[in-house]
Amino acid sequence: MSSIVAIVGRPNVGKSTFFNRLIQRREAIVDSESGVTRDRHYGKSDWNGKYFSVIDTGGYILGSDDIFEAEIDKQVELAIDEADAIIFMVDVETGVTPMDEDVAALLRKVNKPVFLAVNKVDNSKRLENAVEFYSLGLGEYFPIASTSGSGTGELLDALVEAL
Ligand code: GDP
Ligand code: MG
Repeated sequence: MSSIVAIVGRPNVGKSTFFNRLIQRREAIVDSESGVTRDRHYGKSDWNGKYFSVIDTGGYILGSDDIFEAEIDKQVELAIDEADAIIFMVDVETGVTPMDEDVAALLRKVNKPVFLAVNKVDNSKRLENAVEFYSLGLGEYFPIASTSGSGTGELLDALVEAL
């Protein structure tokens, strides 16, 4: 059985953009039978010869800004249960938000590899701004741009190393 990687984070940080890049032309399986908070998209990917499944959480609420913090927490708890490794995505454009801090608090307690991906790092100014995410207490982060793919190779190298 291949390992499972879950992508978590609040809406609009770029989870689905990254997910789609990872699975490329592969078919994503949508499982929404269990309701809103369980709705997730599954895909298969590989990197450096290692195959793994990817879960994009919160697909149902795509584009919605009025998600409750409790729903994000549920998504994260589900991800913690079913995944072997977690990518926690945040957005350098907005900076650290209270919801990010909330998710980080949950993830700091987890005994599974957690990778902090600071997304939308499209230029050098944003690369400088990304340092504020050290405040989440999750250690080293990966500055990435899901739209261009910049930095995603380093993230995936570290990820598959941990699987
Ligand atoms: P999700 O709600 O976390 O799944 O976020 P989406 O993948 O739907 O992306 C939300 C918005 O962020 C979309 O308009 C994306 O085009 C944009 N986005 C995603 N990645 C990047 C990036 O690397 N740079 C910039 N500037 N925008 C991005
Ligand atoms: Mg999405």
